[in-house]
Amino acid sequence: MGCRKCNRDAVMHAAYSGADLCEQHFREFVERRVRHRVREDNLIPASATPENPQRWLVGLSGGKDSVVLTTILHETFADDPRIELVALTIHEGIEGYRDESVDACKTLVDELGIEHEMVSYEEEFDVRMDAVAESDPMGMAPCAYCGVFRRDLLNRHARELDADLILTGHNLDDEAETALMNILEGDVEQIADHYATSIAGRDEIEQADDPEFIPRAKPLREVPEREVALYAHLRGLPAHIAECPHADRSFRGEIQTLLHDLEDRHPGTRHSIMAGYAEFGALAADTYGTLKQSSSEMSTGTCERCGRSTDRSVCRTCELLAAVGGNRQSEK
Ligand code: SF4
Ligand code: ZN
Repeated sequence: MGCRKCNRDAVMHAAYSGADLCEQHFREFVERRVRHRVREDNLIPASATPENPQRWLVGLSGGKDSVVLTTILHETFADDPRIELVALTIHEGIEGYRDESVDACKTLVDELGIEHEMVSYEEEFDVRMDAVAESDPMGMAPCAYCGVFRRDLLNRHARELDADLILTGHNLDDEAETALMNILEGDVEQIADHYATSIAGRDEIEQADDPEFIPRAKPLREVPEREVALYAHLRGLPAHIAECPHADRSFRGEIQTLLHDLEDRHPGTRHSIMAGYAEFGALAADTYGTLKQSSSEMSTGTCERCGRSTDRSVCRTCELLAAVGGNRQSEK
């Protein structure tokens, strides 16, 4: 099969668009969609200047998604004095799995020459995910603890690193899975929240007067997972391809299988899910007021243990840390 643009040998066939592309045109196709998202989501505010650059914190796990995102952002903005990139790697304490991906992160940041910070649950909270998954005092999936701890660290380190935006490498499959899960669970408030944190443009967010709040963006969210993997492979990027041993395969796993089947039989399903979901999400966000963002959704007070804003007496991180026998090692 020949490339649609130049007739060289195609490396991929996108069934959803019918396009066959050679390596060069495929790479450009991936990069273009990331840059398109940066523009469409208004990630660079007019206030960004060489004298007053925006600091972007990229969550770099060492998996293919975050490695591809970091590489494309670096190549796009390395010569743009309005943007400064800094990568943050979080080690959750997962034997074997995370050690190798941390090596991939180090190789990448050395190659690109970007600022890199590394933190771990062990140093920050005195817990390791392997032990949390084993003891599971709250009877939840490991990812339910892990997600709360990760969000806490991303936000805190983004503040400490003076970041204006947190960027993560979620791809089209991740987002379509989350969308479908929210729909099947009938959780409209969750849809409103997902819209505000993942889909809304930066200019749509009404930032509450909360210095702790840092907006988020997912510029890879138009690119299907398989294409992210192919891009990483073709460019020989140092990505660590493995699945976390604690990954919650139950509901998300079923949705993933369902989406793959649907996509095979009806190419374009993920795109159409996201198009309709974005429209619906905007309405839901309006109804639930989730575009008025603060560091803790609608926070009305402060956590009595750590002092962070929360609408409960003890924030979710402190609550889970108490359950798993952890502690915040540094305060505020
Ligand atoms: Fe944490 Fe779950 Fe991701 Fe593993 S799969 S790193 S437990 S969120
Ligand atoms: Zn707290």
